[in-house]
Amino acid sequence: MGISKSISARSPRKKSTTLIIGGGLIGSSVAMHLARMGVRDICVVDFDLEGSLSSSELNAGGVRATWGQPINIRMSQISIDYFASVAEEVGYRPCGYLWLKTPETMPAALKARDLQQSLGWEVQAWDVAELRRRVPFIDKTDDLAGAVFAPRDGLVNPNLLKNHYRAKARELGVVFEDRTWVMGGAPHSGGWKVEARQLHSPAFHEAKLAVFAGLPEMEGLPWTDVSFDADRVINCAGPWAPKIAAALGYVCPSHPVRRQVCIFDSRGVDLTPYGMVVDPSGVYFHPEATNGLAGFATPDEPAGVNYEYDGERFFEESIWPALYERSTGFEQLKHLTGWAGLYEVSPDESAIIGPVVGELGAERTGLYEAHSFSGHGAMHSYAAGLLLAEKIVKGRYETLDASCFAASRFARGELLREHAVI
Ligand SMILES: Cc1cc2nc3c(=O)[nH]c(=O)nc-3n(C[C@H](O)[C@H](O)[C@H](O)COP(=O)(O)OP(=O)(O)OC[C@H]3O[C@@H](n4cnc5c(N)ncnc54)[C@H](O)[C@@H]3O)c2cc1C
Repeated sequence: MGISKSISARSPRKKSTTLIIGGGLIGSSVAMHLARMGVRDICVVDFDLEGSLSSSELNAGGVRATWGQPINIRMSQISIDYFASVAEEVGYRPCGYLWLKTPETMPAALKARDLQQSLGWEVQAWDVAELRRRVPFIDKTDDLAGAVFAPRDGLVNPNLLKNHYRAKARELGVVFEDRTWVMGGAPHSGGWKVEARQLHSPAFHEAKLAVFAGLPEMEGLPWTDVSFDADRVINCAGPWAPKIAAALGYVCPSHPVRRQVCIFDSRGVDLTPYGMVVDPSGVYFHPEATNGLAGFATPDEPAGVNYEYDGERFFEESIWPALYERSTGFEQLKHLTGWAGLYEVSPDESAIIGPVVGELGAERTGLYEAHSFSGHGAMHSYAAGLLLAEKIVKGRYETLDASCFAASRFARGELLREHAVI
């Protein structure tokens, strides 16, 4: 993506102190926290605030502190504590994450449990008898050594959460500009000038797909040019963050990857008393109203923007075999529907947060980023917004030292390799 043509003198110019590119869970959380810390004239721009192709709309809603990296555990704890404080508004349910473990994987799970408990997160270890007593529908357990269960992990409603952040931000004067597609930007008069195109009426699904996939059809839409002057710009563009980075003149090492989830009729197995279950195969599932929702990260999925859902084939090949092997009650499952969304994956599968750093290691004035959550941005969204806002407003991280999330870690070889990604 580049600046395809210069903005004419007659293009509307809008001014703000802070321009946030992307109004998903992360951009909305950053906006809320900055506004709470007293920043005024914040503008969030997004091509589709409804978010029908955004990761914030297409995710599984799992929230957990059962991570391998201490920083990821703490990010979840801070976020989940907040979700618990507004539980009804954001649909948080502490229904737990249950990780089923084989004899090969149980020792590492117990080691991770020691770390999680040392940081104050309760994680129980169950043997197979305890597992079968607590979760009777899991009755095919010959390959298992037991399970670990974290009772405060659970689920949120990501849509309610996003709207919660936005409502709080709007109360403090944050403006959200819809149907605005950012094209490029450059330093200008001590701040930034960002160039974009706007549509005046809502785009249909096909038009959204064309824009997000960068197809030639997007050129035929009735665009109006617009530019934004801001003291600072924050890249919160989720799976499109690498494109926005290129458009702002820096390199982001992440990439988008398709991830699919499906809804199935659980045919007599009542999943509603349970939370998220993670099978050793990598298949995860949880109750979704009276049905089940299941997902699996296909290992050989190529990088790129792809919203094609494989339908029945995804369920038959990637989900059902693992569930069949776990419960006699699952032998009759029926696929109902599903969808594909995008993970925004960094090289070590941990987030990128902080001031953007240039080639020589110096912070680029007025340029920040928060993206590449690699499949766990919903659960880290509150803490990510809080920490980035602290860095911007107070010049330092106060709640938690998040400097390890800086993208410069890749050049230094100080990776935050996270193994507990699903
Ligand atoms: C199938 C699936 C399951 C998942 N499950 C979980 C889970 O259980 N728990 C969890 O915590 N996380 C999960 N995630 C990950 C989580 O959804 C993401 O990490 C999180 O939503 C990222 O939020 P975001 O705001 O960074 O990105 P997004 O929500 O994608 O927002 C980015 C925004 O940027 C806008 N944008 C992009 N480019 C431009 C441009 N040029 N101009 C203007 N606007 C632009 C887009 O319109 C979009 O609204 C899952 C993701 C998927 C796909």
